[in-house]
Amino acid sequence: MADTALMPIPGLVDPVTVPRDITARPDGRVDLMGLPRLRIAALFEAAGLDGKAARLRGKQVFHWIYHRGVTDFAAMTDIAKSMRPWMAERFVIGRPEIVEAQHSEDGTRKWLLRTADGHDFEMVFIPDADRGTLCVSSQVGCTLNCRFCHTGTMRLVRNLTAGEIVGQVMLARDALGEWPKGAMEGLDEDENAGAYTADGRLLTNIVMMGMGEPLYNFDNVRDALKIVMDGDGLALSKRRITLSTSGVVPMMARAGEEIGVNLAVSLHATTKAVRDEIVPLNRKYGLDELLAACAAYPGASNARRITFEYVMLDGINDSDEDARELVRLIKAHKLPAKVNLIPFNPWPGAPYRCSSPERIGRFAEIVFAAGISAPVRTPRGRDIDAACGQLKTAAAKRSRAELDRLAEEKQAALG
Ligand code: SAH
Ligand code: SF4
Repeated sequence: MADTALMPIPGLVDPVTVPRDITARPDGRVDLMGLPRLRIAALFEAAGLDGKAARLRGKQVFHWIYHRGVTDFAAMTDIAKSMRPWMAERFVIGRPEIVEAQHSEDGTRKWLLRTADGHDFEMVFIPDADRGTLCVSSQVGCTLNCRFCHTGTMRLVRNLTAGEIVGQVMLARDALGEWPKGAMEGLDEDENAGAYTADGRLLTNIVMMGMGEPLYNFDNVRDALKIVMDGDGLALSKRRITLSTSGVVPMMARAGEEIGVNLAVSLHATTKAVRDEIVPLNRKYGLDELLAACAAYPGASNARRITFEYVMLDGINDSDEDARELVRLIKAHKLPAKVNLIPFNPWPGAPYRCSSPERIGRFAEIVFAAGISAPVRTPRGRDIDAACGQLKTAAAKRSRAELDRLAEEKQAALG
């Protein structure tokens, strides 16, 4: 059942991710969350419907799940009354379990969530004046040990499934009360047109910046985001979704081609020596290779810039020289780029301090003077440990071998 091998960094191979599909439930029913229409239809067919009926039901149920936020088959009014209990006996429309919900004094919200097989992970919602951003996790833990990141001190427990990734967005919509209301007749949505747009809603943007490295869980992240972008699904524009990677170079082109969302790259340093130390993945995919992959990223343009994230670490990467080198690198690779300067968010035992506000200000000035946008991000939700890099759950303290054994036992118990 172990789906992801631990990755030693620097290593010779990327982790082998055996596709992880639907998480088994103790009651034996199958969770449809995260599945596309055809997959739902195939499950209906395997359970006994004929092919044509299965496809129609698949389409209807897809709409109810993702567009309406319905979790109860009994509410699916365009499906024959007698069929609804048949579905409910075999399937569920799940959400991650909420273990704890916290509210920051600045309005930021953090949820501690749990998978059906008992792994904990986190999700954060950050409201602003003109947007509301949901920060979504892709893995429980992370294999990469960026030295300034609290998640990096966890072991990787496992990749999240597409259902567990889409489930986070569904849960946020539940919590914010953002599903369209009113009766629906059949699949004709015209009378509701316009009701399901980002306007007037709190949740307008998604960033894959929670726990984990999304490009080490590529298939599930892609499948989840496809449902989030589907016009009959959650219908969020790809322009409002950003995927952040620490620099998994071999997967970047595919991310552009198969997902097509905005790209953010955790650069954080301008020299090999410093980046090797703070983002150990750099020992495997170096700066030049990474920046070349950025230059080749499908869809990047002056209208859709690549964001370079740069965490400000006192005395490590924050000198005037670093700022000038950052500008030089961006220009040398002709990158349509903006830079996000992130004040380091501390966590217990962290080996770094945040640069002073004056230092950050001076760094920003140098980058900005070269014609590159360089806003300083305001830390959000620090009081509830919800800020960048502060996410960490207790669940990962078991050893890999122990987790494999537990997973096997569980699998055996389920038959
Ligand atoms: N794994 C992905 C996405 C998650 S992290 C990645 O690394 O890009 C989201 C952003 O927060 C990354 O840029 C990450 O480097 C940054 N970050 C991590 N720890 C931080 C900390 N303690 N303070 C500020 N930013 C941090
Ligand atoms: Fe993983 Fe991103 Fe944290 Fe690095 S910064 S350890 S890649 S979550």
